[in-house]
Amino acid sequence: MTDRYAVIGNPIEQSKSPFIHTAFAQVTGQDIDYTKVLGPLGGFAQAVDAFRAAGGKGMNVTAPFKLDAFDYATDLAPGAQMAGAVNAMKFEGERVYAENFDGVGLVRDVVHNLRCPLRGRRVLVLGAGGATRGALLPLLAEQPAQLVIVNRTLAKAEELALLARQQRGSIPVSGLGYTGLTGQPFDVVFNATSASLSAESLPLPASVFAPGAVAYDLTYGKGLTPFLKLAQQAGVTRLHDGVGMLAEQAAEAFAWWRGVRPDTSDVIRQLTVPLL
Ligand code: NDP
Repeated sequence: MTDRYAVIGNPIEQSKSPFIHTAFAQVTGQDIDYTKVLGPLGGFAQAVDAFRAAGGKGMNVTAPFKLDAFDYATDLAPGAQMAGAVNAMKFEGERVYAENFDGVGLVRDVVHNLRCPLRGRRVLVLGAGGATRGALLPLLAEQPAQLVIVNRTLAKAEELALLARQQRGSIPVSGLGYTGLTGQPFDVVFNATSASLSAESLPLPASVFAPGAVAYDLTYGKGLTPFLKLAQQAGVTRLHDGVGMLAEQAAEAFAWWRGVRPDTSDVIRQLTVPLL
């Protein structure tokens, strides 16, 4: 019997998850059906209940429901607990197992696909929202030399830096505002703000990019975002968006549900929007 999965969000039309998971199912020979569910605002639990009652095996969760899914879950994995948000659920009887694969997907894309080791590197993360929070543990596990979190709202950067230090006291982590960036260069700079979604620029000095730096915008499908353009103007040649992160978090969920990890290279190639 075909097993049913879906992604739930609002809006949901834009989601690439059905395309990705259907492609994964084809290459791995898994018999699954993967659809989109438009979750009513304020009606997340009822929509998931209905999907489970109809035999659904698992769901991906996207905005604005990642916190609702956190509350809905019965069993939170450490990654979801640390992120304070859930992006994948697995249903087994009364149990709702919950994970957050965004951070693992990001690190896997950077280290494995882009061949950019983070160990011993100076890492800067811009933004202190859900994506940064979810990326903390996977980033720290790579043992960077240093992690700096910069955010428009300073208190949030400080809060995440404290959380990170509590997890891994051996790695220097600090939380700053943009004005705190005083000429120190970084080897890897992640833009985990949502500024690129509205083509907004960040007040970032060119000096944050060390020679040979990598600039990675978690936003995908937007071409050369203002952040990537700024990095390019600063002389950075290794420019990437978050399409690989998207594919890798999906592959993690697929492996968790189906016990087989698909290769992501075809999906990444098909979804890549050139950085012009
Ligand atoms: P959140 O809404 O949780 O956080 C948004 C962050 O962006 C906050 O830190 C906010 O700062 C900051 N921000 C927003 N606008 C500006 C601005 N104009 N200038 C400076 N800072 C700004 O979003 P998420 O963490 O969930 O997502 C962040 C990005 O990551 C999004 O673009 C999303 O598309 C992308 N993403 C990509 C994924 C992938 O698979 N590739 C997966 C998940 C996310 P403040 O706190 O001051 O408001």
